[in-house]
Amino acid sequence: MLFTGSKCRAVAAACMLAGGLCSMTFPAGGRGYWQQRVDTKIEVSLDDTAHFLHGHIRMNYVNYSPDTLSFIYLHLYPNAYKTDRTPYEQQAVENGDTRHYFSREEDRGYMDSLQFLVDGARASLLIMEDIDEARLMLPQPLLPGDSLDIETPFRVKIPLTFSRMGHEGQAYQISQWYPKPAVYDKSGWHIFPYLDQGEFYSEFGTYYVSVTLPKNYILMATGNIAGSDNHEQRWLDSLAALPLPPDTLYAQHAFPPSAPQRKTVHFHEENIHDFAWFADKRWIVRKDTIAVPGSDNIVTAYTCYLPAHQKGWQNSLESVKTAIRGYSEAAGPYPYKTVKAVEGALSAGDGMEYPTVTVIASTNNKGMVHTAIVHEVGHNWFYGMLGSNERRYPWMDEGINSFYEHKLAPETDGFTKQLNGHDANFLAYAQLSATHDLLPLDTASEAFPGINYGTDVYEKTPLFLDWLEAYMGADTFKAAMHAYFRQWQYKHPQPEDFERVFRAHASQNIDWFFNALSSKRPVDFSVVSFKRRRDSLTIGVKNKTGFYAPAQIVVKGKKDSSGNTPEATVWTAPFTGSATVTLPDADSGVHWKSAAISPVIPDYNMQNNASSGPLALRLLGGFNMSCRHKTWVLPAIGYNYYDGFMAGIIWHNITIPQNKFQFTLVPMYSFYSGNFVATGWLGYTQYFNEGWLHDLQYRLEGKTFDYGKSDLNIRKPLFRRYIKVAPELVLNIRKPYPRSTIERSFTLKGYWIRESMLDFEMSADSLYRPFSAGYEDHVYGKLRYDFRNSRTFNPYSYAFQGIAGKDFTLLSAEANLRVNYYLKNKALHVRGYFGKLFRFSGDALDNRYQLAAAYTGQNDYLYDGTYLARNESSGFLSNQISMQQGGFKMHTLQYASPVGMSDSWLAALDLSTDLPFGKLPIRVFGDLAAFPKGAGESGMAVIYEAGLELHLTNYVSLYLPLVLSKDLNDYSRSVLGKNRFLKMISFSLNLEQVPWMDLPSGLLKLQ
Ligand SMILES: [Zn+2]
Repeated sequence: MLFTGSKCRAVAAACMLAGGLCSMTFPAGGRGYWQQRVDTKIEVSLDDTAHFLHGHIRMNYVNYSPDTLSFIYLHLYPNAYKTDRTPYEQQAVENGDTRHYFSREEDRGYMDSLQFLVDGARASLLIMEDIDEARLMLPQPLLPGDSLDIETPFRVKIPLTFSRMGHEGQAYQISQWYPKPAVYDKSGWHIFPYLDQGEFYSEFGTYYVSVTLPKNYILMATGNIAGSDNHEQRWLDSLAALPLPPDTLYAQHAFPPSAPQRKTVHFHEENIHDFAWFADKRWIVRKDTIAVPGSDNIVTAYTCYLPAHQKGWQNSLESVKTAIRGYSEAAGPYPYKTVKAVEGALSAGDGMEYPTVTVIASTNNKGMVHTAIVHEVGHNWFYGMLGSNERRYPWMDEGINSFYEHKLAPETDGFTKQLNGHDANFLAYAQLSATHDLLPLDTASEAFPGINYGTDVYEKTPLFLDWLEAYMGADTFKAAMHAYFRQWQYKHPQPEDFERVFRAHASQNIDWFFNALSSKRPVDFSVVSFKRRRDSLTIGVKNKTGFYAPAQIVVKGKKDSSGNTPEATVWTAPFTGSATVTLPDADSGVHWKSAAISPVIPDYNMQNNASSGPLALRLLGGFNMSCRHKTWVLPAIGYNYYDGFMAGIIWHNITIPQNKFQFTLVPMYSFYSGNFVATGWLGYTQYFNEGWLHDLQYRLEGKTFDYGKSDLNIRKPLFRRYIKVAPELVLNIRKPYPRSTIERSFTLKGYWIRESMLDFEMSADSLYRPFSAGYEDHVYGKLRYDFRNSRTFNPYSYAFQGIAGKDFTLLSAEANLRVNYYLKNKALHVRGYFGKLFRFSGDALDNRYQLAAAYTGQNDYLYDGTYLARNESSGFLSNQISMQQGGFKMHTLQYASPVGMSDSWLAALDLSTDLPFGKLPIRVFGDLAAFPKGAGESGMAVIYEAGLELHLTNYVSLYLPLVLSKDLNDYSRSVLGKNRFLKMISFSLNLEQVPWMDLPSGLLKLQ
């Protein structure tokens, strides 16, 4: 299938293999090579009312292995859709796809009615723990060189198309649909469950399949329409000859009724390892023939698509031709008689490959149709005829196939220019490189996180093959690929077989390439020096990848009189550390001016790639795929109660791929106070390739705003201003395994905060007036441990934190859990908090240091939050709360001693729930807090509140408290009075929780 990187759309590819030549000797495959052979005959009938397949399968299984077999493993893949506990289901949920999980029973699928006979004798079937795997116990052991006949009826309930096999109305995508032996090879049985992310491995053989269905279905299947069934062939020809209907007439894709008469179409193909068919009553059929380069084979090509998608599919036959010709030339001639590409429902990527037939996900986008067809048809080579183990080594089919797809169907989306000639997939590659999150290419499909599967397999493999091809020379590389194809056609090549062939053809040592395949280190070379001597030029190059590898350097000279820029390329030997290359200069008569790492090297970090890397300032934001050190500016506006409206600029270097050193500086001018205010941060991330630490982030945060003002009896108000400088060290712990949803980190943060003060004195006119009264400096320290499990269902997190100031230490623990209901996007949100204060002096602790049920700007003595009116006690802006400490939504700051404050301990439980109905982002919340009673009283006080929350985003919510415990109710009656409920509407604005330093990775995930 196919993934287009950043968008993670997978275009799956097609394949075919066959077994005709599986005799006992396999001279081309190497000494001792053997493979099993399975010839398959299926009769199947479609019930398009209840969506069932009724089938009978007969397989002839030949044991060419040197082992005696007492059982055969079978795949029963339709069972993947039977329950919500299958590996397919679990992986889909992990990848965030919950459609099957939330599906109705009647939309799911399964296989049943199995009754196996082996050579005519009853054989028992043992269903494995994963219900799409089974072991067929053979009544008699199968000796080496012997064969047996396996047959059974089977019935398949066709699910909705959650992944690959299924139906969408009366459009059928029938793949991975019949009982099928797992591969038995030199390393044993390869039995694995059906997965969306992770493909297949099957035995070669001959297929005879007859499909019975209502007469007016157009049927596209693996192989050739067999025998004397010229009727079906003539019908297809007549459809293909019809003029295209005006596409405006077909805005909808309504299904015509099924014909009462049924037909049976027979298909036959040899040297294939899978069989799929697709049926639709609405398709437009187009047909052409293709002469295969390098052979006298003439292939009949069909494309079938929905009438409303004529625009997207108008060149679809050309796309098929591009693939058949391109791959035949690159690897070896296409041997089959037909090739088909059809439009159909598909959820596993943008397309999916089967021998001689491919399905392309429904779209009217011409570019996507072209890319997907070229990719999927190309799989006839890399999956089809070269039947590698796709599940275990996805780079061998998806990776190599994408390498040719990129050459034959280069994407020319809007990004190409900004990305230095790369397509959008390169963004994900560059970003995962920058954060040291790539994985070795020999990783198995199911072990990749989704983003890595799309990036490592579909983008890194092609990029690395480009590198190898440039190093070996295009002709040598092509000769090696031809030899690999010839030797392994219709067989099961392993990585070592690919390696053997390529090593044999390369004139240089290509160890480095195979080391690179198994490395996860990001590729980064830099040009560090450029020295011209009298008659030569010496270029210094650094290899920062961490593995031996060669770099190609492009050297450019001064424009000559005819306006041409002389250019030369030179390779370093494979190296680590530093290397130099020398070019004759005076000899060539060229005055070399600059050197850069060649674009053929998959270098993610281009800023250090040239001998000169100027600084560059750009507007807004963007990608950085150039040798310039880019930064961006954009306008900034802000508001708070004290400074009023502020305007300035945001100057930053947040980009993809992200920089190790990042910054955002926001200087602004306050139109009200007339002061310059600012916020910003600098950060540097240090990555580790091994060990428990994934990265270390060093940050420095600074900000200064006004936080209070007084215009008491004066015309021009006086302001109180704070300055904060906070260095921070974050240790991000490596995930236990790449797909893990667990994140853990330690944070150590120091604070220096200066707060300027105002005092009041009585003037000669007996009026109090404010005056500036110097400033106070505060120093705090914070140590925090965070644990987060962001799994799809019931994600949770917890944190332990200690904050120390001059007079106190606050220890606290907080936990959050989302309990998913069995309803999409509906959950119960549970939060628990416990905090304990330790005082070091006998004096009463300033209010702001106390534990608070409702946490407002006044509690934010660390100035970590962004509050619109951080020191106000009344008015809507003062009702800004944060989900910290008690998590209450209603404060009582207008009391002399507010309700819900504690200088000892505080425990809180905060619940909120999505409404089980409707789409409005409304939640019901309830908060409960307990703390010791105030001075002079003993015992514990308990307060509570409940109300409605308008949950706009994870960062912005509005709250309306409706039910209050007595203390809070008393406050609201006596202080707020009329319209008290409106006055209690509060809000949260958790901008401090935006992970600015991880923004590039976050943006990538959003796509
Ligand atoms: Zn593919």
